Amino acid sequence: LGVLGAGVAVATAGTPVWAQRNDGPEEGNFPKVRIGSNECWTGPFPVAQAAAAKIVSHANFYHPGTEVTDFKKTLATIEGVPVDHVLPWPGSSDPLSRIVVAFCSPQKGLVTADVSYEQPWGTAEWAGAKVTKVPLTPDYRHDVKAMLAANPDAGLYYICSPNNPTGTLTPVADIEWLVANKPAGSIVLVDEAYLHFSHGQSAAPLVAQGKDVIVLRTFSKLFGMAGMRLGATIARPDLHGRMMRYDGKRMSTNLPLPSVVCGTVALTQKALIEQRRAEMIAARDFTFAHLTKRGVKFIPSDANMFMVDWGKPAAGVQAQFLAAGVGIGRNWAPWPTMSRVTVGSMADMQAFCAALDKIMV
Ligand code: PMP
Repeated sequence: LGVLGAGVAVATAGTPVWAQRNDGPEEGNFPKVRIGSNECWTGPFPVAQAAAAKIVSHANFYHPGTEVTDFKKTLATIEGVPVDHVLPWPGSSDPLSRIVVAFCSPQKGLVTADVSYEQPWGTAEWAGAKVTKVPLTPDYRHDVKAMLAANPDAGLYYICSPNNPTGTLTPVADIEWLVANKPAGSIVLVDEAYLHFSHGQSAAPLVAQGKDVIVLRTFSKLFGMAGMRLGATIARPDLHGRMMRYDGKRMSTNLPLPSVVCGTVALTQKALIEQRRAEMIAARDFTFAHLTKRGVKFIPSDANMFMVDWGKPAAGVQAQFLAAGVGIGRNWAPWPTMSRVTVGSMADMQAFCAALDKIMV
């Protein structure tokens, strides 16, 4: 890594993807305003925190009670799937890697959009599987027809909706088309990490219909639980079985119990979920209005992140923001003039806009 100013790491050619972040604690770099990692600007709902705190005193047991089953039942009811179609995980990165390893091989590769979340293709490359990256459409959406055409014999088709980093939604109708036309035995993985921030529909009904679909969820985003590590998969039990081939049922005891309890309570807070989504949308609208006023281009987004195009190398602009105490994250190949910015609280976005005004004078 080359270093620009105080703690600003700039990715250089050949730097592994995991080392390209410049906004995280790995670099000992905590800006005052942290809007670079797609986290939530606030913690779990207080009622969920209280439930998590209560269970800690019983955490000498792997299963003090029915916590894991309660989680499964709660999510299954919300999504309209049988209880045995839901599994909790310690975060969603863990099941994501397992899915790639379970369903991809040198013969049966991974198809992903370009640009999209990098963990699936990073894991696939690491596991020696073939990776096919298919450009997004000119309006930055997944092109499901091109994804199938690019590798009609893949093991896994990865759809991130809303997409990280563009924030664009893939309509469920497009996912349905892919599921109907994909090769037999392959899987469509729909990563819905950011779905709660949008008004988009889930692909979970396809799981209820018994299709070859895995829906991936995380509690790291709208639920504000990134540091608590909780995720979930919604899929047919036989697909779950393939993800757990080597550790089977042990997975259910490998979960942070307070996180499971916190997540269960959080899922039921419909009004609070809607309120948090509305707060994010208000902060995003405010930011977009400001960018428009300043003539700065951005990609309209359905999530708590957006790509902004500075029209000049983004790494330098990011360093200027960081010097102003605002960590806006990093740029994404192959877009050297764009940065991905997380939508934080209204106060965070006011700080972002104020820093932008200073930088752009
Ligand atoms: N999927 C997507 C699209 C993500 O952006 C992330 C992390 N930012 C993850 C999965 C993994 O998140 P976690 O392990 O915290 O659930």
